[in-house]
Amino acid sequence: MLRQSITAYGEPLRETETEMPTPTSREVVIKVHHCGVCHSDLHMQDGYFNLGHDKQLDVRAGRELPFTLGHEIEGEVVAIGPDVDSVKIGEHYAVYPWIGCGECSSCTGGEEIYCQRAQHLGISVDGGYATHVLVPDAKYLLDYSGIDPAFAGACMCSGLTALSALKKLVDGNGQRLKGPIMIVGLGGVGMIGVEIAKAIFDTPPLVADIDPAKREAALALGAGAAFDSAERADVKAVIKSTGGGVSGSVDFAGAEGSLNFGHSVLRKGGKIVVAGLIGGHFEIAIPMFPLRAIGIQGSFVGTLDEARELLELVRKGAVKPMPIEKRALTEANKSLEDLRNGKIIGRVVLTP
Ligand SMILES: [Zn+2]
Ligand SMILES: [Zn+2]
Repeated sequence: MLRQSITAYGEPLRETETEMPTPTSREVVIKVHHCGVCHSDLHMQDGYFNLGHDKQLDVRAGRELPFTLGHEIEGEVVAIGPDVDSVKIGEHYAVYPWIGCGECSSCTGGEEIYCQRAQHLGISVDGGYATHVLVPDAKYLLDYSGIDPAFAGACMCSGLTALSALKKLVDGNGQRLKGPIMIVGLGGVGMIGVEIAKAIFDTPPLVADIDPAKREAALALGAGAAFDSAERADVKAVIKSTGGGVSGSVDFAGAEGSLNFGHSVLRKGGKIVVAGLIGGHFEIAIPMFPLRAIGIQGSFVGTLDEARELLELVRKGAVKPMPIEKRALTEANKSLEDLRNGKIIGRVVLTP
């Protein structure tokens, strides 16, 4: 099988070849038909995340090179282990990539994303920038009937991240927050977030971004009102128009400016969820936590159950596919470069 792999961090991907795996027990080999190229792949290629103050989070440990990226996978079952009875050769599935050890309390509690021994496809074990990928258990294969295959793969990261972050905007009783919530950062994930928020909250979301074109696009998708996250005056405008601030916001950018805006527009008792990974540093005076009674929570992709829930929302038409550009597997490296240089609108999906 052929792959486009990291052979050295910070360097272009190279084509590598390896033996086709033979599945054992509950393993499945998927012939990759579609694999989305995600912004987080750039951090993996670099080997670090930017922490602000000239610091970096090194993410090179525990991964042997060559390593194959790609966690937004759709494809066809071509080989199954002897204990697999839930799927058949020739069937097509979206692959849930956020796989844990299956044994720890996080995994048995349905939150494999928090597993300390993660085997995330394309992050900690070889992923879908390849002709084939080995999936450790057939239970991670999700039915996407009625959904465009290229989009079904992409849903496993961007759409899932959006849904899981928005679902964390609940009160102490687990009830979804009332009134308009705020979505900050209108990249691909934020835009899907606008659609999901329309489907799961009682009021269309407010949105904020530094880019006027993105604000216009979000308004066209049905956002309630749009604000400039770089404008202090717009913090006041949000607080005024909502009668004291929003009950919750999600930061899909994860940068200093977006988080400062997103938390400044909270009302007392409000909550912000951070899902973006652009990077930087956030400071807040400690007394503000009790005095404003605000909460801050991180959100990392989403659970297997949430992935199923998302596919159901897509099937119902609540979430529309983003523009998708299909490219050959050999264009993986060029696609990462284009993404890095901001040249991609929507999603590039590789078609190995
Ligand atoms: Zn991703
Ligand atoms: Zn585990």
